[in-house]
Amino acid sequence: MLLSARRCMVSLFIFALQTSQITAVPEQGKENALLPTWNIVGGNGGRNTGNCAGNDLQALQGSWEEACLMARKANADLSWLEATAINTRGIGPAAPEGKKKSSDDYIEWRRILDTYIAFFGEIPFNQQGDAGVANVDVGRLKHEHSQAVEDFFRDIERDFCQSASSSRGKLLVCTDETYRFIKNGEIDPGDAQGRKIEETHPNCEGQGGVWYSPDLPERLRYSEEPPPGESGTRPLCNSRDDDMALTLRNVNAIFFCPLALDSTQTLPTANNLRTQIKSRSRWRKKDVNKDEIAQKLLNRGIGTVEDPLGNAKETLSVIFLHEMLHLLKGAIDNQAVDINGNPMNDGVETAFRATKAYGLVHARNLATHRPDLARKNPDNVAYFAFAMFFDELDWSRGYAMSKRS
Ligand SMILES: [Zn+2]
Repeated sequence: MLLSARRCMVSLFIFALQTSQITAVPEQGKENALLPTWNIVGGNGGRNTGNCAGNDLQALQGSWEEACLMARKANADLSWLEATAINTRGIGPAAPEGKKKSSDDYIEWRRILDTYIAFFGEIPFNQQGDAGVANVDVGRLKHEHSQAVEDFFRDIERDFCQSASSSRGKLLVCTDETYRFIKNGEIDPGDAQGRKIEETHPNCEGQGGVWYSPDLPERLRYSEEPPPGESGTRPLCNSRDDDMALTLRNVNAIFFCPLALDSTQTLPTANNLRTQIKSRSRWRKKDVNKDEIAQKLLNRGIGTVEDPLGNAKETLSVIFLHEMLHLLKGAIDNQAVDINGNPMNDGVETAFRATKAYGLVHARNLATHRPDLARKNPDNVAYFAFAMFFDELDWSRGYAMSKRS
């Protein structure tokens, strides 16, 4: 989820952060080196308070390590794909002849390229005969693909997962429950002159007041989200929408919500999931719609990372990558399309509330019908990295299958 625009003007202050630092970032070549990357807000609470402490901190450390490993693996696999495409003039390693066994290179080529197409809808590199492609550029990643996908993984790896330098001003916040809504007529608790809230935030008078949290850094202290109401009693983590996390790009902050850090439902790490994923057996019959196949396989009761509705099991590491797309790229969660490519709306709340393209089914459909949006959609990019991380499986249809032999 992304909240980029505040609804009324907010004044930004020079901030003095009460922070501790997360120290679990794998250094290049060392999977468990601990390096500082994030400024963590809070740190004085326990698991149930939502502050980044105790088990919450452990979960975030572990999942950030995994997010780094996923980004690094995706980056490495895309580099290999591009180098191989350049070396083979875009054709790839030779396919096995007759009943011969496939070469390792051929299996690897198909794993990466077919998964890329499943999540982004297109072959990412220039091919011979493409209009306007110079001979020397055959096999190179197309600009729109390297910019949207490869650069993202490279930036995370380079700027967040291997440098020993301290955080780049990015904040990690573990709750929004410290905000309370200051109504018009009440004194602004943060104003040294003791003025009323509508005097210090005149632009918010129309919505009845402003959210305020004395526990957060200055730049997060006021939130001008709508007042408590249908969407719950918090300004940011919206229980109606099942928010796990959200990004405020204008203040460089990622918030994790109670649903993601709730003591009653611990999210698995990707490595936990590794033992739970059972790949579907390969489906050999051709000319069958891929979603029909997915459904048929699900009907057999084979466990996968998707539930029968197509919702992927959530992991904090995928949520981290998803939010990083918002933070670094300013990506938005695109409107989902159905299997025929029609834009989807959530008919429950209001007639025209767009359904967001979250999860593997929506990622697949967006890739099929809107590759231009798929490569910029946070869940498509995050789940591609997830798929590369689980390289013992074949994700070429957008879900886990056993690898080809
Ligand atoms: Zn999002």
